[in-house]
Amino acid sequence: MKISIVGAGAMGSLFGGLLAESGNDVTLIDVNDAHIDAIRADGLRLATDGSDRHVKLRICRPEEATDVPDLLVVFTKTLHTRAALSGVRHLIGPDVHLLSLQNGLGNVETISEFVDAERVLIGVTTWPADLAGPGHVHSHGKGVVRLMAADGIARPIVEHVSEALSTAGLQCTSDATVWAAIWEKVAFNAALNSICAVSGCTVDQLGLTPDGRRLADEVVSEVLSVAQRLGIDVDPDKCRTSVAGAIAQHKGHKPSMLQDVLAGRRTEIESINGAVVSAAGRLDMEVPTTETLLSLVRLVEARAVA
Ligand code: NAD
Repeated sequence: MKISIVGAGAMGSLFGGLLAESGNDVTLIDVNDAHIDAIRADGLRLATDGSDRHVKLRICRPEEATDVPDLLVVFTKTLHTRAALSGVRHLIGPDVHLLSLQNGLGNVETISEFVDAERVLIGVTTWPADLAGPGHVHSHGKGVVRLMAADGIARPIVEHVSEALSTAGLQCTSDATVWAAIWEKVAFNAALNSICAVSGCTVDQLGLTPDGRRLADEVVSEVLSVAQRLGIDVDPDKCRTSVAGAIAQHKGHKPSMLQDVLAGRRTEIESINGAVVSAAGRLDMEVPTTETLLSLVRLVEARAVA
């Protein structure tokens, strides 16, 4: 497939590198000049379990991209999706499909401002990735990808994309229950990311007092009660167990929202806690802990950029 990836940071580079290695025609598109220069000079340094290699692939800035792809993958942070798609609007031809595996809610709505909803694929991934420096991405362990057409209709493109990702080693399945997985991940992130971002705690440090665990549990319950009211078949017990498991095991881990706060960057809070609070408001539901954490993260962000 001819694949362009807009937002070629940690996840975009990991996916782009693996898709290029498995024979797809991949172009990375980003605005980070140091990353672009490093990949142009030496290829993408891709470190996965047991293998550290350089992958040759194309990378350019949005205004330099000319080839209309079959698939445009959006892998910016959610707060940059609209700007990123505006920058590559000239690549969104009549046959292009767009895929988002970004965290949070509202991705389909934002992407649908640029393309008919029937050409949007949505999904969730458990693959982790970190940018170790310009042109250098790390991943470890094994993850999966689950995706579907955003409108729920089983089209051949879904299988086609899923097969390309699996052939690249990304273990993808097409799955009609993706919305439950998306909401469960939002609940997990709304709890751990926002509490760590405002407290400065690493994930395991949330277990230092019963309050940390209680707050996280409250957020999971609030978020998933909104999902259930929307008719989504989420599993709150499974989600609470994963949150407890993360607190027990993720020693020293700083979630991305804490890393963003520490680096003085804006976070994905609006598409996580923010989107849940908006959805709850539309349903006349109260999500007080999620909402308080939203206000606190907004305050911390405002202090960082002031
Ligand atoms: P990242 O910050 O490493 O990468 C985002 C990239 O987007 C950056 O390279 C940035 O320069 C680029 N970008 C920003 N504005 C742009 C624009 N206007 N045009 C083109 N490029 C632009 O982020 P990430 O960790 O790769 O995360 C991407 C998404 O995937 C997020 O929604 C995140 O929550 C989700 N996610 C991340 C992980 C992970 O382990 N990193 C795992 C699952 C999901």
